[in-house]
Amino acid sequence: MRIAFLSDIHGNREALETCLAHALGEAPDRFVVLGDIVGYGADPVFCAEAVAALAAHGAVVVKGNHDEAVGPGMPSMTRDALAAVMWTRTQLGAGHLGFLAGLPLAVRDADRLYVHASADRPGHWPYIMSDRDAALSLAATDAVMVFSGHTHVPAVFPLRADGGCDIVVPSTGVPMRLWPRQRCQVVVGSVGQPRDGNPAAAYSILDLGRATLTQYRLTYDHARAAGKILAAGLPPRLADRLALGQ
Ligand code: ZN
Repeated sequence: MRIAFLSDIHGNREALETCLAHALGEAPDRFVVLGDIVGYGADPVFCAEAVAALAAHGAVVVKGNHDEAVGPGMPSMTRDALAAVMWTRTQLGAGHLGFLAGLPLAVRDADRLYVHASADRPGHWPYIMSDRDAALSLAATDAVMVFSGHTHVPAVFPLRADGGCDIVVPSTGVPMRLWPRQRCQVVVGSVGQPRDGNPAAAYSILDLGRATLTQYRLTYDHARAAGKILAAGLPPRLADRLALGQ
């Protein structure tokens, strides 16, 4: 069983198409989308429809804070994120909004939990930036492994016997051996807006038979995605950051 994880697509069609093409070549048994399908990028309709199509073919999809923010109410977000939410609301139709609103906050799959932010109060969207954040997430569930996104910075946090977590940054394209029977928090990187200084789109494949996790980083046409953000009148910072991986 091999599971491809896509997270934080953020309306970036070029990045999503690149990751999907690569992932389909790897022929995983299942796709899991860890939320933030829309927000920031200029192609929310394309990305919502692509993920809905994956879901129709059996993909597991959970809700991100940006997916929630495009629904009713006034979200508390940074100015650029809020501007993107407001613009995204004008693009999405009732069907897209209904799909996003109906997504679950977390999905349990055997001994794994899939959630956008953290297993610890998922609807409050805490960030897993540190070993302590990862330990809090693992303490909130009895799942052996928790998979999340939200930070846009890939990292793996194995739980130690003393209750703390180590931090391992996965290398690109190299299967990382997971620890049998050891609990672990995995933060997969972002498809559409990486923030680890590497502009390449990120996605990961978990191989349950081999007990490995492989992170792929793929160059894509970020200049095209950035040009569409500017043409849509979205904050220029949202375009500029794609080339920087920030
Ligand atoms: Zn995000």
